[in-house]
Amino acid sequence: MNDLNQTAFQHYRDAAALPGEVDTLVVGAGQAGVAVSEHLSKLGVPHLVLEKNRIAEAWRSGRWDSLVANGPAWHDRFPGLEFDLDPDAFAGKDQVADYFEAYARQFDAPIRTGVEVRRVRRNPDRVGFTVETSAGVIQANRVVSATGPFQRPVIPAIAPKDESLYQIHSAAYRNPQQLPEGGVLVVGAGSSGVQIADELMRAGRRVYLSVGPHDRPPRRYRNRDFCWWLGVLGLWDAEAAQPGREHVTIAVSGARGGETIDFRRLAQQGMTLVGLTEAFDGGVVRFQDDLAENLARGDENYLALLDAADAYVARNGLDLPEEPEARRIYPDAECIRQPIRELDLAAAGIASIIWATGYAVDFSWLQVDAFDAAGKPAHQRGVSSEPGVYFVGLPWLSRRGSTFIWGVWHDAKHIADHIAIQRSYAEYRDAGQRQASTVQQTASWE
Ligand SMILES: Cc1cc2nc3c(=O)[nH]c(=O)nc-3n(C[C@H](O)[C@H](O)[C@H](O)COP(=O)(O)OP(=O)(O)OC[C@H]3O[C@@H](n4cnc5c(N)ncnc54)[C@H](O)[C@@H]3O)c2cc1C
Repeated sequence: MNDLNQTAFQHYRDAAALPGEVDTLVVGAGQAGVAVSEHLSKLGVPHLVLEKNRIAEAWRSGRWDSLVANGPAWHDRFPGLEFDLDPDAFAGKDQVADYFEAYARQFDAPIRTGVEVRRVRRNPDRVGFTVETSAGVIQANRVVSATGPFQRPVIPAIAPKDESLYQIHSAAYRNPQQLPEGGVLVVGAGSSGVQIADELMRAGRRVYLSVGPHDRPPRRYRNRDFCWWLGVLGLWDAEAAQPGREHVTIAVSGARGGETIDFRRLAQQGMTLVGLTEAFDGGVVRFQDDLAENLARGDENYLALLDAADAYVARNGLDLPEEPEARRIYPDAECIRQPIRELDLAAAGIASIIWATGYAVDFSWLQVDAFDAAGKPAHQRGVSSEPGVYFVGLPWLSRRGSTFIWGVWHDAKHIADHIAIQRSYAEYRDAGQRQASTVQQTASWE
């Protein structure tokens, strides 16, 4: 797998013109598109996957240089292939991209790279959809959108219009050298924000981290990774976020072999924590007075998982070593005891702001009746309200795990099954039709 290079699928790009018609068109060849293609192949559904860039492009070029998977190699993978790594190690971003290329090659996935799908519209007078692409027009009976959960980086409208500040979204962050000299304000403390803030602090930068509501599971507890605990405790399978917790991010990291994210420890090490970023006004940034509460709720979440894990061990009589030291909470640093509510950016030496504030989706190309009044995909486990249109890879598509590597594979299976079932309905012929086709065949033999 390791000797695969980025051009492994060049032959798809160089292939002849697109077919005029396909049964099922899959748009996007990230992990979601590859998973759908695998399941469709197993079910014998003719299909084509169109990818505007390269396979797993998001892992290849849409992540910072040092990023490793948030889950260990034994967990963050598809069932049909293991990483060529220690199962407890964390794959680097390029290893993840290589993995999906190898995976696709394993079943000879019909992927055409370098082709963008620009518009999909339902046919008014015949079955299926007209698909306009950068390489021509195709007819497809079905369309699966596998274009990703994190397409358009979102920077909130409060961002200052100050030209002297270097401002980027976390999607554009690559490494500390990219930023001008000086301090950095990182807004958002989910997995991306906290990992970037930590990397910058280790590179010697003065870092302010704006921390909102978050979950922060222990990286490992009683010799098991949190991915294992979320699995056995059924938490990956939660069908929806708890009410009021919809905007709570999960702060985890596989960096340096994997460590629990502990904001109090980061503050002890010199990072300045602040509450949610509220507004910018004349070079001054204001933060909400919610830092202590956000940290306390993060600790609650952390300790609740330890409690649930202990109860699971006891109930099942497992032989997993006790770990009382995991309950240690670091003392509060000054920035937590006396939270900063206002900060003069120039006086604090802040030259850059990194907005680790998440992503939105962009379905402007999908011009069908598959969206609700708010413009959100309307679907049940990925089967949309527009017959023949499917979504995969969206947050909470069927459960908490839906955007994660292992989770998307299971969602893709459901969608492929649905497609196969619909094809069998479409192929049904009543007695009269069967007889007519037998007569026709006999006539053509004579
Ligand atoms: C920083 C970060 C770290 C993450 N780490 C992990 C992790 O460790 N473990 C984990 O399980 N998950 C992780 N995730 C979540 C998730 O696994 C990734 O976001 C993953 O890339 C999602 O895969 P996908 O196939 O759904 O979407 P994408 O990887 O975004 O793939 C969608 C593809 O569709 C293509 N496309 C889009 N529009 C079109 C079009 N109109 N025509 C043709 N092609 C199109 C794009 O080029 C892209 O290649 C992480 C996410 C982020 C942002």
